[in-house]
Amino acid sequence: MVEETIFSKIIRKEIPADIVYEDDLVLAFRDIAPQAPVHFLIVPKKDIPTVNDITEDDEVMLGRLFSTAARLAKEYDVDESGYRLTVNCNSDGRQEVFHLHMHLMGGRLMQRMG
Ligand code: AMP
Repeated sequence: MVEETIFSKIIRKEIPADIVYEDDLVLAFRDIAPQAPVHFLIVPKKDIPTVNDITEDDEVMLGRLFSTAARLAKEYDVDESGYRLTVNCNSDGRQEVFHLHMHLMGGRLMQRMG
């Protein structure tokens, strides 16, 4: 049994979020503390705590995370300027919410990695 997070409540519409995309597998909404002019979180509707919990059964959903990122980047006009997709895992990765999610950040020049 997976422990629920605030993202499960957002998925079930029990708490509000600024939702920008939804389909059968994923939901995307604005990050509450944006680190860039465009900052969305793309989350699977299935409760998966971290990347470590992904299985082969999740491969279609994982593809949907990326195709949703591409769709949103185009829709919010950062596809040509560019953007960063980030998935944090556990403490060294600075993961804070233990429901798998992809950050899409764009609209400014990102810091170099490392
Ligand atoms: P991470 O460190 O990858 O786990 O990032 C979690 C992200 O979730 C952070 O960028 C938070 O600002 C964001 N966040 C937390 N609670 C909410 C919320 N209720 N609505 C939107 N974004 C949230």
